[in-house]
Amino acid sequence: MTLNPRTVHRDFYGAPGAAAVMAGTVTVLFVWYFGCNEDAGCQLPVTCAQWARIAAAAADYRAYVSGEAIAYYVLWWSWLALLYFVIPAPVAQGVLLRNGQRLKYPINGLPSFLVTVAAAVLVYAMRGAAPFLWIADHYFQLAVASVLFATAQAALVYLYSFRRGPVLLALAGNSGNPVYDFFIGRELNPRVGALDLKCFNELRPGIMGWVLLNASFALKQHARFGVVTNSMWLAILPQIAYCVDTLVFERCVLTTMDIVSDGFGWMLSFGDLTWVPAMYSLQARYLSFHPVSHSTPVAALIAILAIGSFLVFRLSNSEKNAFRTNPDDPAVSHLRYIATETGSRLLISGWWGMARHINYTGDWFFGLAQCLATGFDTPMTYFFSVYFLVLLIHRFYRDESKCRDKYKKDWIRYCEAVPCMFIPYVI
Ligand code: NDP
Repeated sequence: MTLNPRTVHRDFYGAPGAAAVMAGTVTVLFVWYFGCNEDAGCQLPVTCAQWARIAAAAADYRAYVSGEAIAYYVLWWSWLALLYFVIPAPVAQGVLLRNGQRLKYPINGLPSFLVTVAAAVLVYAMRGAAPFLWIADHYFQLAVASVLFATAQAALVYLYSFRRGPVLLALAGNSGNPVYDFFIGRELNPRVGALDLKCFNELRPGIMGWVLLNASFALKQHARFGVVTNSMWLAILPQIAYCVDTLVFERCVLTTMDIVSDGFGWMLSFGDLTWVPAMYSLQARYLSFHPVSHSTPVAALIAILAIGSFLVFRLSNSEKNAFRTNPDDPAVSHLRYIATETGSRLLISGWWGMARHINYTGDWFFGLAQCLATGFDTPMTYFFSVYFLVLLIHRFYRDESKCRDKYKKDWIRYCEAVPCMFIPYVI
């Protein structure tokens, strides 16, 4: 059998769907900026006049395509690439690939983050808040710079995938249609020397950029109003914890769908570099010009929701990870499971006995808590909850379909043992 078979099934309804997703996500970015900012307020555009105003603002590209922002963006990406190489790191092996190889990955995301935080503290000590206020003030120019960078990167890896020699393509990215393959990612693991572009982009410039943006918006709020509101802390502290958590569990990313089976194309390049930092920092950006102060009981309720849901997310993922790594670990050896014909075991007690995707439920409520921190003056800041719900439901069905194919009748037994999908006794 050939190493790189032609892709027959195309997700997203093929090339037209891929083009629509690219246009649609960039449009969302524009609408959420021009519809929600210091001058415009934050109103979901529904009237023709509101849409016309957004279209007019978006048409003035000189206001947001900035050479300075592009230069700083390239510097940011290059700084993190430098740390990828220079910080000593234990090396982890990726999963076994179709070509019989395992790739090596340096696990230094967390130290890279800590060095970057130390550098930011140094900058603050030397120059005060000014550089961070510049970042907050040039949020959209930086977001556009990231779109351009992500698109150029995706184009380069697409072209590079046609080089001579053995190139391992993604099973889903070899349709032969340039638009579709560019979008979905043609090569599985494009690398520049030892720099694994997919893993690097997934964990570093975007995730750390999200933290930097949040910190800058908190400083912006302070500069504008002389205070950092409790709503700002409720929005950004959980997000920073989530980013740190991702970096602490950096090894876990090596077994995710993104790294194992997706190619690296526009979808991941844009998702990592633009979507995550620019859209996920919306709550902090909004609060930087629209401060909200919650009463202590309301703030406490939001904090309890955030902490509780984070624990569900973290403990359930860690339980499965510990069980899959070493089922004899005393922390998980008491758990009941179904032994499947493939040799893998499926947990049916503990967190995984409550619902088949209890980890998604924790993750979703965690995001909701951050949206609730922004109050109820606009629906626009609830974008993340709506989008994430769609993403997780789509992911749920994709995963269920994969597991049904893989485990066959064992999966049916598993679903009988754990009938709920997300919330115990409810759904
Ligand atoms: P999961 O971590 O839930 O992994 C699903 C896989 O786990 C299945 O394919 C199966 O793999 C195995 N599995 C399923 N049920 C069991 C069981 N009962 N016992 C043992 N193994 C089981 O999925 P994801 O990778 O989608 O999500 C990981 C986390 O990342 C989630 O918490 C999710 O919320 C989060 N996430 C966050 C995103 C964001 O943008 N913030 C985006 C996507 C995910 P196998 O074939 O090995 O059996």
